[in-house]
Amino acid sequence: MRTIRTSMLALLFVSACSTATTKPEDWAKITTAANGDPSIYGKYTNGCVRGAEELPNAGPGFSRYKVRPTRGFGHPDLVSWLTKYSLRLSEKNLGVIIEDLSQPRGGPMPGGHGSHQVGLDADLWYYAPSASKLSEMTPAQVLKLAQRPMLGSNGRVDPKLMTQSEVLKVKLAAQSPGIERIFVHTAIKVYLCDQEKDADREWLRVLRPWKGHVRHFHVRLSCPTDSPDCEIQEATPPGDGCAEAQQRLTEGFPADWFVKPAVRPELPDACTDVLRSS
Ligand SMILES: [Zn+2]
Repeated sequence: MRTIRTSMLALLFVSACSTATTKPEDWAKITTAANGDPSIYGKYTNGCVRGAEELPNAGPGFSRYKVRPTRGFGHPDLVSWLTKYSLRLSEKNLGVIIEDLSQPRGGPMPGGHGSHQVGLDADLWYYAPSASKLSEMTPAQVLKLAQRPMLGSNGRVDPKLMTQSEVLKVKLAAQSPGIERIFVHTAIKVYLCDQEKDADREWLRVLRPWKGHVRHFHVRLSCPTDSPDCEIQEATPPGDGCAEAQQRLTEGFPADWFVKPAVRPELPDACTDVLRSS
């Protein structure tokens, strides 16, 4: 009995520690999604996804910028959202270049992103050739394109860089069903706030002023209703958030705003199965 209990305890200990010891590299080297019904465990910055799908290399209105081949996976909701959004852009002959989504099973990534861990985040370039031009480009030609910054040397949006096409891309994304928030540079949010003359300013609420994000915007979808273990993020505050963005632009962010925890938190236990399953 005692032996059984000891070995059970040992097993429990191993399983409790196994997730904690997984490194971003363990997640990065896997090239296939985990089998099973789509399900998300944990939060955008610390979690994983089962049953992810890979976004195709190209489709109506979009091309992937495939510099890291295994970062094109997402929860089926995200793949569907990106496909529909791009199709809508293509009807206006606008194109979009889609860079990182998540790894095949989500999880932490070596270098770069703090989030993108549950298959609900994607980075989209502001600038892209028109949909018709993009559809004629090979993946190698797309890879030669460069992200264009939207800000001039004065740190403010340059309207010659952020034209009405780029504005419309962000606005259509923010108005799409399923969007949770979109990260843009603070100066870009302020610019979009100033540009919007319509009475309906609800879409601006979704835009979160952030550092970086001058060459791409980061879309994040809400937790799917059939993923009860997907940790819902605190909602964006009511209102258009324009005064807050202006304040951040003028005063900067609080000193601790972007500080990451010194020790990476443990992933949810279910992620051990996701990492190891077929
Ligand atoms: Zn991102």
